[in-house]
Formats: sequence, C-alpha cells, structure tokens
Amino acid sequence: MSDNQRQPSTRWQELKGAPTGTELRTNGWRQEAALRLLNNNLDPDVGEDPERLVVYGGTGRAARSWDAYDAIMDQLTSLDDDETLLVQSGKPVGRFRTHEMAPRVLIANSNLVGHWDDWEHFHELEAEGLMMYGQMTAGSWAYIGTQGIIQGTYETLAKCADQHFGGDLSGKLVVTAGLGGMGGAQPLAVTMNGGVCLVADIDADRIQRRIETGYCQEIANDLDTAIERALAAVEAGKPYSVGVHINAADMYEELLERDVIPDVVTDQTSAHDALEGYYPSGYTLDEADALRERDPERYRTESLDTMERHVDAILAMQRAGAVAFEYGNNIRGQVKEHRGRDDAFDFPGFVPAYIRPMFCRGQGPFRWLALSGEESDIYRTDDAVLELFPTKERLRRWIDLAQEHVEFQGLPSRVCWLGYETTRATEVGLDDVDAVDPDDELTERAQFALRINQLVADGAITAPIVVTRDHLDAGSVASPNRETEAMKDGSDAVADWPILNALLNCAAGADIVSVHDGGGVGIGNAVHTNNHVVLDGTERAAKTAMRVFTTDPGMGVVRHADAGYETALEEAERSNVEIPMGGEE
Ligand code: NAD
Repeated sequence: MSDNQRQPSTRWQELKGAPTGTELRTNGWRQEAALRLLNNNLDPDVGEDPERLVVYGGTGRAARSWDAYDAIMDQLTSLDDDETLLVQSGKPVGRFRTHEMAPRVLIANSNLVGHWDDWEHFHELEAEGLMMYGQMTAGSWAYIGTQGIIQGTYETLAKCADQHFGGDLSGKLVVTAGLGGMGGAQPLAVTMNGGVCLVADIDADRIQRRIETGYCQEIANDLDTAIERALAAVEAGKPYSVGVHINAADMYEELLERDVIPDVVTDQTSAHDALEGYYPSGYTLDEADALRERDPERYRTESLDTMERHVDAILAMQRAGAVAFEYGNNIRGQVKEHRGRDDAFDFPGFVPAYIRPMFCRGQGPFRWLALSGEESDIYRTDDAVLELFPTKERLRRWIDLAQEHVEFQGLPSRVCWLGYETTRATEVGLDDVDAVDPDDELTERAQFALRINQLVADGAITAPIVVTRDHLDAGSVASPNRETEAMKDGSDAVADWPILNALLNCAAGADIVSVHDGGGVGIGNAVHTNNHVVLDGTERAAKTAMRVFTTDPGMGVVRHADAGYETALEEAERSNVEIPMGGEE
C-alpha cells in the first residue's frame, strides 16, 4: 500500500470534516464545494476509516495518499473560475485554463485497459503508488455516509414487499450481513418497511456504530438470543432489527441447521474484494487481518471458500422458500469465476429484480448537500420537493420517514429518487426563472434543481446546495453482475454507455465529472460515472442545472430504450426524448 499508511495530514487533522458557513476559502463556490465534499467524505462521522483515507466499500478511497490530499487541497484553494483540475486515481496531475462553463474538476479512478483490468494488476499498481480504488462515491467525493444509500435500500425492499408480500414486510424476517458504510442501511430500511432484520457482521465495532447512529436497534451476544428476539418480533408483527457478531456464512448455515428459513435473504458484505473486503470463516477480525498481512494468497483462497459456503446457504434458503437476491457486492460473480459455480446465479441481482423499471424512466438516487452545514437548509429543500411534486405519495412518505429516522452525518443532505418525466415550466411555476423559457419542458430533476437555485438566490437557503448522485443511476453504469445484469438485448458489458454519459456531463457543463472502474463489484467488473452541480443562486447555475439534469437522466431513458425496454420507449415518447433509430438495433 503506497504512503497512505503514513500519519494523516495536519490539515485534515485540523479540519476533520467539511468546513461550513458562508465564508469562502477558495476562489468560488464550485471550487469550495469540491473542497468541502472531499473533506466531508473524510469526516470521521461519514467515512469508515478516514485515517487511512478509506471512505467505504472495502478500500474505496477519497485520495491516493496524504501527500496527494494536501496537493488537492492546495489546488482547489487557488483554482480559478475558468480553470479545470485533473485528478488521476486520487492524485492531482494537471490543471488547465478551460472556460467558465466547463467542469472545475475532472476525475478518473481505477481505470485499466481491458486485458489488464483485474485485481491482480490493480494491486500491483496500487502497491507502486500508481493507482487507488475509488469505489463509486468515495473517489468522486460524493459519499454522504449511510444516509446516502438508505432510500435506495428502502425502495428496493419496498419493491420486494410489493412483489412478494402485498406491500409491506410486517411479520416478515429478512436475513442479511454486512453493516459497513452501505450495508449499514439495511436494518433501518427493513424496519421502515415494517419488517424484522437479523444481520451478521464480523466486526463488532461496525454493529455498534450502526446502533449509535440509529440504523440498528440491538446487538445480541450470541446467535440463539438474536434468533429468539427476531422471531418474537416476527410473531408480534413488530418492526425490529438485531445485529450479531458472527461470520455471515456461519450464521446462514446455523440458521439452516435450526430450520429458521427467512422470508427474504440477501447480503452486503464486501465480497467484491476477496482480499481486502470479505472475511474468511474461522478467524476473529484481528486474526484474519494478521493472516492477510502474513499470507495474502491463503487469505484469498479461504475468503473465496467462505463465499462459496455463503452462496450455498443462500441457495438452500431459496429452495426452502425464501426470496433471495444479491445486493450488489458480486458474491455470485466471485463464486462463479473462482469456484466454477454457474448455479451461483440461480438467485437474481437486485437491479433486474426490483430497480430496472425505474431506470427505464431515468429515475435514480439524486442527492444534495447543504454547504452551509445548516440542517434547516435541508428541511427547506424537503418542503420544496414536496411542494413541487404534491401527488407523489411515496415521496411524501419517504421525506416523513427520513425526517423521523435518518440522522444527518457530516454536511446535512438528502436523497430522493427523481427521474426524467418532463412538465412545462409554466405548469410548475418555474417560468419566472431567468434562465427558463415558459415553454421549456423541465425534467423532474431540473425542476427541483431550479427551485433550489431560486431559494439560494432569494437567501431562503443560507449557502449554495450541491447536487450529485450515486454512480448507480439510470444511464451512468455498465456492470454486468449488477446494474446491467440480464439486459433485454444482451448488452450487459457494453461500456460505451457510461463513457458517453461522462462525455455528455462535460458537454453539459457539470461542475465535477468522474469516470471509474470497478465500483460495487470490483476491478474489471464495472465502468461508471458521477457528476456534481453547485446551485449557487446564479443564472449560470440555473442554465447548467437545466442542461445537466436533462441530459444525465436522459441517458437512462436512451440507454434502456436502445435495449428495447417498452417502459423506456414510452418515457421517451411521453417526454420527447429524441431517439434517432427508435430503439432498433
Ligand atoms: P464496507 O467495507 O464498509 O463494509 C463491509 C462489512 O462487511 C464490514 O462491516 C465487514 O466487517 C463485513 N464483513 C465482511 N466479510 C464478512 C463476513 N464474511 N461475515 C460477516 N461480515 C463480514 O462496505 P459497504 O460500503 O457496506 O459495501 C458493502 C458491499 O456492497 C460492497 O461489496 C459494495 O461494493 C457493495 N455496494 C452495494 C451497493 C448497493 O447499492 N447495493 C452500493 C454500494 C456498494
């Protein structure tokens, strides 16, 4: 591992989180947003292990080394409004005069040329200090803690409940594992849907962290107690969550042994990385960490052996009647590739099972952060989103639940799934915005961004809001074991789509644009992008928002229409998206 093992930068130690307030320490709000977001990722309340620059998802980092972090901070501090900074795998490598409407920061993380695109080459280059693993929102400075994934997890489980259990999970048992940065959202998402969650993690501190932040209700001392508590809650039809300090494969096998078959089974351990993410059975956390140092090859082999047992147990639960799905960590891909088990794919991934119809309409996890650090600014945006979309019952329910249950981490922020569907500016009361023509057709995302920009301009929100999104979005990712699994036309592995998406985001003038390899599912298994737009109340920001929040979700519609999905073709027709060959091959 390069020099990110060295003592954290003094500057980071002084900040330990994003600067807040209305005073700039840079030459403009867009540069300021980049600086605040980088530090928000590395806030000890947000990231999982910031002293090692690790944000979430195994070893997903925000900067390559502490020297690189310091250099990025220097660059952002002096960057002008017509300059663009280039960041290659977490290290600033160049800076050019471009123009005011161009992105201020361009980021590429973990990308390798096809033939070399695997963990082995990546780890060699990482050891030489030449690359870093950017995961998805870690290396693109868009991570907002477990609150960032909670709505996606809530929506996925709600869709699962709709399909299999008549709309909610009351009286249902969900078994899962992994209480890290992303997986930590699972117990709260289950209880928000009315169900009971029994969740394993090998790291007791991670369970404790989820309890302290309100994501999980109890840590049980042993599996028997945990099962007893969970089944009692199922019997009573009460939402409940209990974490157990145990290896996931061991827990799933023990449940089968005791004939405890859950209604739903999934998993969110960091199985995408057999060496630095997943923990083999038979060791405590410390013993496993020592084995990794001493004998990485043996660690990897034992880790894959445990994954095979883990998948076998999920398959057995599925045969016994559980609804099973993979939750985006590539555990099926690992077991298929390294243990030759094609049947690992006998249970589906969560995207084809529950999410794809939303992607067809350009819907995805759109998120925004208050750069002021003021919670009241986010509550103001909550009001705005509800005023704009008064008929969306599910959105209202989500905002109510989020206000009640989701603790802010670092810069206050919110996530909402908004899509492409367009409405005329006059119909949504946005025709008086300077950048808007009354006849303009505005997407849901653009409507919301314009309203926020207005509130910033009016001073109703105290400092700019930065809008960004997950890389897991409608048109931003090629990931054959996850977002693009089982595409209708077989185009799962075609990476032209995310590359076009990043190019389009630059053309539309997003303020930060990034392209990564390997997020969620590991190196060589995905290409994906992210963008940020800073709503600083100016007409320039309004114009940028209109462009980016049309083209970006529009890619989702276009990509799925091209693959032949009826829902996407319908959305294109309804919202006038130009598809030159009408979805023909
Ligand atoms: P993380 O590294 O922060 O946490 C992983 C957790 O799994 C840790 O707490 C670790 O102790 C635990 N763990 C690992 N192996 C275990 C085992 N065998 N038994 C019990 N516990 C074990 O990762 P994260 O950010 O929570 O992400 C989890 C996985 O989900 C990753 O593979 C990530 O790429 C993927 N992911 C999914 C989505 C999604 O939308 N579904 C989004 C982002 C990431």
